[in-house]
Amino acid sequence: MTSSAPSLMAHAAWPHVAPLLTVEAGTRLASGNVHRRIELESAGLSERQLRMLLTVRVACASCGAGVCPFRQRLRSSAGRTQRPGRLYVSFTCPLDVSLACARGKAASDAAEALAKAIADHRRAPTPPQAEAHHQLRLRLRGAL
Ligand SMILES: [Zn+2]
Repeated sequence: MTSSAPSLMAHAAWPHVAPLLTVEAGTRLASGNVHRRIELESAGLSERQLRMLLTVRVACASCGAGVCPFRQRLRSSAGRTQRPGRLYVSFTCPLDVSLACARGKAASDAAEALAKAIADHRRAPTPPQAEAHHQLRLRLRGAL
């Protein structure tokens, strides 16, 4: 089993991506797992940077298949509010590929690990958000 949250944190883009991530309170699933929602504020990114993020690949936290952790919401996600300028972050196969992966404990654990890493990153001395966005624009191209 591969833990993919650490593989994202080890990714060259992580220091640039971390300031853009927000963690929202989770939903308790029928399984009892609490599923955190992690989002990436992409409004400040160029089309090119956005495309680069959308091609980052890590191993599914559950089955190890290659997955893209940064995803655009599909129009078909029923009942969900459209959130332009935001990507959602997931470390497992999408729901329509594997319900077991997307809703399993590995998914919850990976999101929890990421939430912790985001908190740790915030505690480290970091430039203000605007500066972080500026740095990202300058450096993301080279980092990915
Ligand atoms: Zn999977």
